[in-house]
Amino acid sequence: LASVAIPEVIHRVSAKGSDVPPHIDSFEALNTFGVPSRITANLKSSGYKTPTSVQSYCIPILLKSRDLAAISPTGTGKTLAYLLPIFSKLAAPASPSSGNGVRAVVVVPTRELAHQIYNECLKLAQGRKWKIILFSKATANALSQNGAADKVDIIISTPLRLVAALQNGVIDLNNVRHLVLDEADRMLDPEFMPQIQEIVNSCTYSFLQKAFFSATLPAGAEKLAMEMLNNPVRVVVGVKDT
Ligand code: ADP
Ligand code: MG
Repeated sequence: LASVAIPEVIHRVSAKGSDVPPHIDSFEALNTFGVPSRITANLKSSGYKTPTSVQSYCIPILLKSRDLAAISPTGTGKTLAYLLPIFSKLAAPASPSSGNGVRAVVVVPTRELAHQIYNECLKLAQGRKWKIILFSKATANALSQNGAADKVDIIISTPLRLVAALQNGVIDLNNVRHLVLDEADRMLDPEFMPQIQEIVNSCTYSFLQKAFFSATLPAGAEKLAMEMLNNPVRVVVGVKDT
């Protein structure tokens, strides 16, 4: 997989909403948010030394359980910005006997992207038996066997694959606490909107957190996003003019 370098540029960041949690300047600051030390250790061993702009702002917002719409250019580290809070909030892998069902879902437009996000997950998952599923026909079928879906921590899927599994009764999303739409501009496009609506409607947990991430968000998609989010913070990272 190609790894994209974080551009060495100064970012202009705006964070708007009510009571916006302050941003962090270092990953060490995560201790004060109760992020498990195993996760911060995994950041180090993955070579992540300091948070990127989108991470500095979005990680505290998500750790404070707020809904979020984040717009930040390609290559600025959006994946970690939502994965780290998910791992931290889930705290530990679901126990084999919990029977609680899927707790986090990341929806992306393509299989290729789903694969990349899965690989990022593996970095944060080191040292614990997290059950992370890159959703495909095969993995969905495997889940339908004897309650396996109850022990899943995170599912990464394209909209169509996830909706197919919902319609077949392979999984339900009633216990999902964290729903992320990555590449949200495409997710909120008319092409995917019926599936996204069905996914959101299937996440019935009262304290569901929704987060949308994108490099761009055209006005139409932005309006849809804001309607779907609950008292969101809106973070926009741009490149400062020189
Ligand atoms: P985006 O989704 O914004 O396009 P990615 O999440 O794909 O960006 O990240 C781009 C690259 O930057 C990946 O290779 C990722 O591993 C790396 N990366 C992310 N966060 C950091 C960080 N804090 N420090 C160094 N590299 C990082
Ligand atoms: Mg991305």
